[in-house]
Amino acid sequence: MTGIVYKSTGSWYTIKKEDGSFLECRIKGKFRIKGIKSTNPIAVGDVVDYHIENSTDETTGVITAIHERKNYIVRKSVNLSKQTHIIAANIDVVFLLVTINNPPTTTSFIDRFLVTAEAYGIEAVLVFNKIDTFDDNALDEQLFLQYTYESIGYKCLRVSAKENKGIEALKELMLHKVSMFSGHSGVGKSTLVNAIEPSLNLKTKQISESHSQGQHTTTFAEMFDLSFGAQIIDTPGIRGFGVVDMEKQEIGDYFPEFFALKENCKFNNCLHKEEPHCAVKEALEKDEVSWTRYKSYLQILEGDDENYRADEYAD
Ligand code: GDP
Ligand code: ZN
Repeated sequence: MTGIVYKSTGSWYTIKKEDGSFLECRIKGKFRIKGIKSTNPIAVGDVVDYHIENSTDETTGVITAIHERKNYIVRKSVNLSKQTHIIAANIDVVFLLVTINNPPTTTSFIDRFLVTAEAYGIEAVLVFNKIDTFDDNALDEQLFLQYTYESIGYKCLRVSAKENKGIEALKELMLHKVSMFSGHSGVGKSTLVNAIEPSLNLKTKQISESHSQGQHTTTFAEMFDLSFGAQIIDTPGIRGFGVVDMEKQEIGDYFPEFFALKENCKFNNCLHKEEPHCAVKEALEKDEVSWTRYKSYLQILEGDDENYRADEYAD
């Protein structure tokens, strides 16, 4: 029998069975997935095989196998740098909430997020929130950002979680999919989720994981069914997306507009930096590639992601 993991607390997993009911399951013995070293073998969103185990007074299940993942996101423990925690698996789309002011979201944060989504193989959509607060400057800035990201293939939405604007368009993109929401603290994640599904009270805001809490504080995600036919994965305390280890060579491939130009670079291992006849730099000179995107690229290439990390964990 097959089910989907909706919740995990470390030793028990709540799975949704094919008939729609839930069952508490555990895993027996060692359960390792090849190639992935993590503190948790099974994560929310995983599709698993299980069988029923009848004990004297309650019915529980045993997970026997895990289906191949379409994708999964991890968080590295800050203290034990070698330990990886799988936050969630099989995510269809991740929405990054972006605000122009209160708080400002920088292009370097957006780009870092998009690169990580590309590396994970998850569709990312930018959701510009708080449009009700825009003055002319904020509007100009937002429209410019939208133009920049739409022209390289990312979907963008404009919403006001507070005034319930743009919510239907967002729900349309969520339909029949497993979604996640990300963005700085204060961008309106809780308010937006509340506008989407008022009865749902997510933990996004309530629990904040801090570096100093040590290895025993683990972030557990949870999946919820929404009334209009969608699922949402709630990940308490996660604003960013984790930091993925990337080879210098592959970073440019996660900038879709660079990747499209790469075949015209003289060197097939071009880092688009100092190399002669680089198609990305030529496009940049002609303003066909965005300067802020290129700047973000250099920051990531140089491993200059301290600001990003600070952004991600700060509350
Ligand atoms: P979170 O930390 O991302 O979950 O952000 P919250 O949902 O708690 O929102 C932070 C603040 O922004 C709250 O005071 C909200 O009322 C406000 N807020 C959220 N969305 C909007 C919006 O669309 N317009 C305005 N004006 N304020 C908003
Ligand atoms: Zn190049």
